[in-house]
Amino acid sequence: MRDMIIVGAGAAGLSAAVYALGKQLNFLMVYEELCGKSDWGQELADQDAEAYRAGSEAVNLFARRIRAHPEHTISDRVTSVMPTNETFQVVTRNHGVLESRTVIIATGATPVALDVPYAQEFVGHGLGYSVTTYTHLLAGKTAAVIGTRERALRGVGELARLARQVYWIAPDPAIMTTSLAQTVQQRPNVEVFAGYRVQEIIGNFHAGEVVINRNGETRSLGVDAVFVDLGLQPNTQMVQGLGVTDAQGFIQVNDHNATSVPGLFAAGDVTTSFGEQVIIAMGEGARAALGAYDYVLAEPASYADLPLD
Ligand SMILES: Cc1cc2nc3c(=O)[nH]c(=O)nc-3n(C[C@H](O)[C@H](O)[C@H](O)COP(=O)(O)OP(=O)(O)OC[C@H]3O[C@@H](n4cnc5c(N)ncnc54)[C@H](O)[C@@H]3O)c2cc1C
Repeated sequence: MRDMIIVGAGAAGLSAAVYALGKQLNFLMVYEELCGKSDWGQELADQDAEAYRAGSEAVNLFARRIRAHPEHTISDRVTSVMPTNETFQVVTRNHGVLESRTVIIATGATPVALDVPYAQEFVGHGLGYSVTTYTHLLAGKTAAVIGTRERALRGVGELARLARQVYWIAPDPAIMTTSLAQTVQQRPNVEVFAGYRVQEIIGNFHAGEVVINRNGETRSLGVDAVFVDLGLQPNTQMVQGLGVTDAQGFIQVNDHNATSVPGLFAAGDVTTSFGEQVIIAMGEGARAALGAYDYVLAEPASYADLPLD
């Protein structure tokens, strides 16, 4: 019987795995993409500074460490996690059903893509899904933010402190009444396009123009970068029905990264915790592993597998 199954090998999953390795737990990490989103990047047309992603070097080092222990990893997709008689059955697409005392879900969240002509081609080339990391690159430049979620609003607020001009394209203007929304709208360098929809992205290798439309009126905005923030879709299909997610599908955890199901933990972007950042996900992964380890230690059955000498 395994002590722990970690689903996902991004910042959160790898950090949990390194912890489990150190504690010599009998664990398995099941993942589709090693390192997850920690290596996703964006470059601008006239980029004059480095886009530094705190923690990504550590993720790569952790990945190297885990690669040296292939007995602890399998590459597969987990389709469901079911609690049964104080253990969990983890159903995989190609490796059947795996059993474990604890499970850590570290499957991340997927940004909702901008579904307009050419947007996909510009991802990483002037078009990105994370304002926070790139704000400093836009000092004195022009950026557009598309979206009306809280993260988009925060992005507008961050950019407004440094950029020359910020275009805020807000297809659904409902959020405009919050106090942060009202504060950022008063900034002289923020122009709001409430109710406009993006028609297409234009550029020469890098995104350079956003074409927007409202009730037949079309505008074309020249930009150095475009940030899309239409929301995050948590990868939590495997725990649907367990009652551990909020209305948006994110997993609710306590300060030990434990869910309401005993033995089930979660870490990283997939949880309701604040801040989708590599270094935060790593911290959460370590805490989830620590929480799961405590859970294993408290179980009498966990001593039955150990050699006595
Ligand atoms: C475009 C973009 C730019 C970003 N820029 C920065 C930045 O500059 N700085 C920063 O700190 N953060 C940045 N972030 C956020 C950062 O990438 C995340 O906070 C961090 O990577 C989350 O780590 P995670 O382990 O929670 O999830 P992820 O990195 O998403 O890893 C999820 C893991 O789960 C696996 N998985 C998913 N579903 C399944 C399944 N069903 N079965 C098996 N495996 C599964 C995946 O294959 C992957 O291994 C950015 C995010 C995006 C989208």
